[in-house]
Amino acid sequence: MDRILVIDDSPVQTEFLCSILQNDYELTVCHTAAEGLKTAKEGEFSLILLDVVMPGMDGFQLLQELKATEITQYVPVILLTSLADVQYEERGLLLGAVDYVTKPFKPVIIKARVNTHIQLYRYQAQFKEQAMVDGLTGVANRRRYEEGSRARWREAIRFDLPFSVCIFDIDKFKAYNDTFGHPAGDQAIAAVAKTVASHFKRSTDLFARYGGEEFVAVFMGSVAETAYEFMKTARQAVEDLHIPQNPQVGRWLTISAGGVTMLPKEGDNYDACLKLADTMLYDAKRYGRNMVVWSSPAVEQWRER
Ligand code: GH3
Ligand code: MG
Ligand code: MG
Repeated sequence: MDRILVIDDSPVQTEFLCSILQNDYELTVCHTAAEGLKTAKEGEFSLILLDVVMPGMDGFQLLQELKATEITQYVPVILLTSLADVQYEERGLLLGAVDYVTKPFKPVIIKARVNTHIQLYRYQAQFKEQAMVDGLTGVANRRRYEEGSRARWREAIRFDLPFSVCIFDIDKFKAYNDTFGHPAGDQAIAAVAKTVASHFKRSTDLFARYGGEEFVAVFMGSVAETAYEFMKTARQAVEDLHIPQNPQVGRWLTISAGGVTMLPKEGDNYDACLKLADTMLYDAKRYGRNMVVWSSPAVEQWRER
């Protein structure tokens, strides 16, 4: 059920709104703008119903705050007010409200407008989600990776946390395609992605298709050993899928991975870190494939087998 936040200083008004909407939506009520702002930042709401005239911070000010805050900026806001003057309406809409309803309002009208904006919000959320997901594998795509990796890198610097990035690539995949055909190759890529993705549990980790048969994983807050062990488990899980490879190349389809863990500081460069991971991947290929090679400041290099 979609969640709606109602912010109005009048208990009579909030009770009235709740009686209209509570059968279709999960409602949260706040009686001051300050409380409303805090609640909006904490919860995932699909819509905010906001009163304009309130003591202290008013609805216009709160609307401005919501639009300036990253996590609330896309949540649609409907202003509810007794200020029927067109100037106020214009101001509210210019500040980013999706709709402006003057009191007293009719329940059917409020309900219809709320339904419309919830529906639009759902479409928008669905569209955004699709734009970030890789069509073949269902994991995050390159675009989400570009945004997510750099955001995590900045967070790691800010909170002084270890940061790891790992690139992995399917071994001898050209031979696989040549032997079993491109559609079978697509299926194999999807199977590998699904298996590795099933190991990711934390929302701070990011796993994405980098392109072709290459993937990238970003870990924030894990020490080098943890990230390295994780990728070793993932590498083994892929081998254990027992997807037959071209026998001249190997028995099963496998992956090689190169990773780096570091404690990034202000001024460090993410691209240099990624390049080092790529060098580790190159080493994994060079040392014979189906292995994980890792680098961190504490150790020169770890490698399996
Ligand atoms: P290496 O172990 O060195 O990585 O060898 P490789 O053969 O995997 O390396 P190379 O990069 O030469 O070949 C990658 C192949 O992956 C070539 C390309 O046709 C195939 N490939 C890339 N993207 C896709 C895809 O989306 N679907 C399929 N079926 N094949 C793909
Ligand atoms: Mg490859
Ligand atoms: Mg490749």
